[in-house]
Amino acid sequence: MAFDFSFDGSECVTCGGKCCTGESGYIFVNIDEMLKISDFLNISFDKFTQTYVKKVGYRFSFLEKKSTDGNACVFFDDETKKCLIYEVRPKQCIDFPFWEGYKRENIDEKTLKELYELCKGVKCLKKF
Ligand code: SF4
Repeated sequence: MAFDFSFDGSECVTCGGKCCTGESGYIFVNIDEMLKISDFLNISFDKFTQTYVKKVGYRFSFLEKKSTDGNACVFFDDETKKCLIYEVRPKQCIDFPFWEGYKRENIDEKTLKELYELCKGVKCLKKF
């Protein structure tokens, strides 16, 4: 399927973490992802979950902290404005901004414009 847009992950370097800060929310993470991240951080799985994770119903989410932009994911570095675990970030972060309501296959002209505002990694291939 061909899309009218693409995504350029290199823009994350200069975006300042729009998807990691702001209003409070959930950053869901599964067991496999947590194992990978604890390995990456070189700490035990138990230590990792006790330090960075909370239970939300039957799921797990990263903790949040206060930042200059409101709330931030516990792994967002406020000084560098970057994710400290970018290489092993969970799928929810990788999929941003193509979340509910913005699924790639359902994006029309209106939502594409909204996405473009939301995330500079989204590249429109079409002129409006
Ligand atoms: S894990 Fe990284 S990319 Fe995901 S919300 Fe936290 S800081 Fe942002």
